[in-house]
Amino acid sequence: MPSVTNILVIDDEPATLKTLSAALGVMGYKVTTAVNGREALALIRKQPCNIVIADIKLPDISGLEILEATKKLNPETAVIMITGHASIETAVDAINEGAYAYILKPVAINELETIIKNALREQRLLIENRKLVESLQQSNRRLEEANRALEQVSQAKSDFMAKMSHELRTPLNSIIGFSEVLLSNTSPVGQATHEEFLNYIHVSARHLLHLINSILDLSKIESGKMSLESIEFDLAVLLEDVRITVLPMLATKKQTLEIKIGEDVSSIFADEAKMKQIFLNLISNAHKFTLTGGKIRVICRLETPHWLHCSVIDNGIGISLQDQQRIFEEFGQVETLRFRGNGVGLGLSIAKRLVELHGGKIWVISEVGHGSTFTFSIPLARKVGYLNAQ
Ligand code: ADP
Repeated sequence: MPSVTNILVIDDEPATLKTLSAALGVMGYKVTTAVNGREALALIRKQPCNIVIADIKLPDISGLEILEATKKLNPETAVIMITGHASIETAVDAINEGAYAYILKPVAINELETIIKNALREQRLLIENRKLVESLQQSNRRLEEANRALEQVSQAKSDFMAKMSHELRTPLNSIIGFSEVLLSNTSPVGQATHEEFLNYIHVSARHLLHLINSILDLSKIESGKMSLESIEFDLAVLLEDVRITVLPMLATKKQTLEIKIGEDVSSIFADEAKMKQIFLNLISNAHKFTLTGGKIRVICRLETPHWLHCSVIDNGIGISLQDQQRIFEEFGQVETLRFRGNGVGLGLSIAKRLVELHGGKIWVISEVGHGSTFTFSIPLARKVGYLNAQ
């Protein structure tokens, strides 16, 4: 609705038109006039008006058609019909069709003024009401969206719990099963089997501990309790530390590790311990999913002066495009390629959270049979580290 009150008066009698528009003008309204229905419809379409005052009997079309067209264009416009005694029945029909009021000829200006004031008041209320309903509907939509998001979170939590219970049960069952055999005097267990069984129990218990530690890490990150403790450190020193840590593991499969750091990368500002964990998780995956004698490379370089990109590249079994979608989810292991008892399916999701904690991103490029490249990028601006650390 326009901010000035626009009134359109339609009457084929020039005298009535003149009197009405003069009186309404004095009342402070902006008045437009039309002498027939066609002209009136053109004006209504051109500019929305608050009030239409229309003679019920026009030379070309009836006042009822004006009413219908006005309401179609703008349901909030109040239409007041002017009628003679002879067409009072049509005026009543007009009220039933949505006209605000009718007024008899000759028009009493005082009466018209009261009708207009009431119509404008109702119009304001209608508009406010509509806005209120609209904002309520919007709030409802937002609430529904929030609800849906909550449902998804809750579903994700349930899925996580179900997968976690499954993952915990597997090593526990094996510990219980093997220890029961050892404890039972009924089955003759030779020395070799004895040791074998103890070894199975040991491997499962270690796996269980690894799983529980990973879950604790993940829940710490999730609950927001893990914050960054960023400091300035030498990336080369950190990677040397990582190399020494993983060497015995790589030696078991005669795998080589090559580390390349761009000349422009020296000391960086990040959380040293978390960066180490990211590298360890990625390198231990590269080790697990690469055959004996495989090659693992770590390449770190500055993508821009403020972004560090680090890639862990292997020439292992690779990951199909479809599986790449879910490996960063908790327990997102690739079932067909799963190396039994080796992983818990949390390493990548922890690495992803740690990278994100630094304000960075992690992704994979891989082809089955040709190896994988896991790359993470983190911003190096000091500001980011300080902000996150708080
Ligand atoms: P896991 O404890 O099983 O290693 P991760 O979350 O670290 O769990 O990895 C999820 C899955 O992603 C792995 O089980 C494996 O299927 C796949 N994956 C991760 N890294 C590699 C890699 N370098 N090569 C091939 N597959 C990988």
